[in-house]
Amino acid sequence: MLSTMQDEQLSLATLLRYAATFQGDSTVSTWTGDGVRTQTYREVGQDAARLANALRDLGIGEGDRVGTFMWNNNEHMVAYVAVPAMGAVLHALNIRLFPEQLVFVANHAEDQVVIVDGTLVPMFAQYLPNLTTVRHVIVANGDAASLTAPEGVQVHSYAELLAAQPDTFDFPVVDERSAAGMCYTSGTTGDPKGVVYSHRSNWLHAMQVISPNGMGFDAADTVLAIVPLFHANAWGIPYAALMSGANVLMPDRFLQPAPLLEMMAAVKPTFAAAVPTIWGGVLAGLQAAPQDISHLRTCVVGGAAVPPSMMRAFDEQHGVKLLHAWGMTETSPLGSVAHAPAGSEGDEAWSYRYTQGRFPAGVQARLVGDDGAVLPNDGVALGELEVRGPWITGSYYSPSGAQIDPDKFDDGWLRTGDVGKISPNGYLTLVDRSKDVIKSGGEWISSVDLENAVVGHPSVAEAAVIGVPDEKWDERPLVAVVLAEGAEVKPEELRDFLSDKFAKWQLPEHWAFIDEVPKTSVGKFDKKRLRAQYADGALTVTTLS
Ligand code: AMP
Repeated sequence: MLSTMQDEQLSLATLLRYAATFQGDSTVSTWTGDGVRTQTYREVGQDAARLANALRDLGIGEGDRVGTFMWNNNEHMVAYVAVPAMGAVLHALNIRLFPEQLVFVANHAEDQVVIVDGTLVPMFAQYLPNLTTVRHVIVANGDAASLTAPEGVQVHSYAELLAAQPDTFDFPVVDERSAAGMCYTSGTTGDPKGVVYSHRSNWLHAMQVISPNGMGFDAADTVLAIVPLFHANAWGIPYAALMSGANVLMPDRFLQPAPLLEMMAAVKPTFAAAVPTIWGGVLAGLQAAPQDISHLRTCVVGGAAVPPSMMRAFDEQHGVKLLHAWGMTETSPLGSVAHAPAGSEGDEAWSYRYTQGRFPAGVQARLVGDDGAVLPNDGVALGELEVRGPWITGSYYSPSGAQIDPDKFDDGWLRTGDVGKISPNGYLTLVDRSKDVIKSGGEWISSVDLENAVVGHPSVAEAAVIGVPDEKWDERPLVAVVLAEGAEVKPEELRDFLSDKFAKWQLPEHWAFIDEVPKTSVGKFDKKRLRAQYADGALTVTTLS
């Protein structure tokens, strides 16, 4: 028996229409360095219509890929909605990719138009001659004449293009299963892999993001989106903001702790999202120059494990709740969120908040052992996390048809490469990436647990742990430490600091003090580069007896 319900397509154009009308007074603002420039959602809707008209005039139709090479700003937000709403596919390019990777992803996705921020034109100009499918470049917030285009490529000014267009557009009714956007994984091995989100997956994901079990922001919030719009579908924030009517604050290129704090003081956002390295920098900035940031009721943190000491510091010193979440480019990305269960308090609540979080109804999860057997969710058994659901990718994009690689998919489940345990009430605790876990004498040592513990020492600003080859034990942990400003500490003292938190055989003997942990294009620890530095003898290592 079929239902009597209307078969309305879950298209992103419906979100744009809704936000531009019934939430039309909410705003998107971009920090300029000393203030904000602001548009209402009504105006975002008008600019989205102008951009859609302009793109159509440039020959962009359904399914065509439109790239962006931009900071987080109003124009990027407009592109985020206009492109899918008109039936084309948004491809936010990661401006921090290595040149070969950037060229690879733009060519692989077959981007036809790229919208580029003026300040990024010099960088983009180096790549453009190698982008084989790009026919038009649109320069926003800058001078189009500053870009010399190769033969066959036309350069346009965003402002001039839009000024020539009407502020309405007849957004088509698209099939909700059609492509809306794509993102490539920041893959540390091999070529990046493309994930294609649908209108439906983004719609359902946005509902989860704004639900109280998700990030839970609403029309009363101003959401500071520090997470780049090119990282993992912008964590779903643009579409969730349209759906909820939340105001959005964009930091543009002002991503260092000092300007971020200046912006926060001026605008007082109530909600924010960023990876732990950003929050670590903000914390250090607050220590150097105290400032009230209690206007932030919640900051969602994910992309890498959040050290408990950082969560406690924000909570206890600044009255700000860090909300730990886990996800991947492949999972849209919201996979789990660490709200403490109803009724838990004090240390019990903290023990839940430290985890990667509880799976929402839209994410099915299981653990699989080395032998392929499904393990119990008993909070003890450790295995590889596999997930499935309506906003989880079932394949990787290939121009010649979807690729279902058995190393990445298991009978309809996405293999995450993350190792952890799941409690009977659905909380995920990750131990490590399977390739980062340290195998010592047949036992595992979690690099993440060691990092979290070392960074709890007051003299330590950052700590990254890698496994290094060992004749007797196969691998042993090496801790690369970045000291806090002006601090001094000996490796012996740091090891003693860990001694009541780990078994003796887990305590690291190899220590290196470094100026900075190498970071990936999305601000996570780049352990591949750290391993290479170790292998090249570039680290000065102290080995304790
Ligand atoms: P990306 O697609 O670049 O966002 O990377 C996804 C990967 O980041 C996941 O597979 C995890 O290894 C890691 N990750 C994301 N969130 C967390 C978290 N809260 N704790 C630990 N690792 C995380």
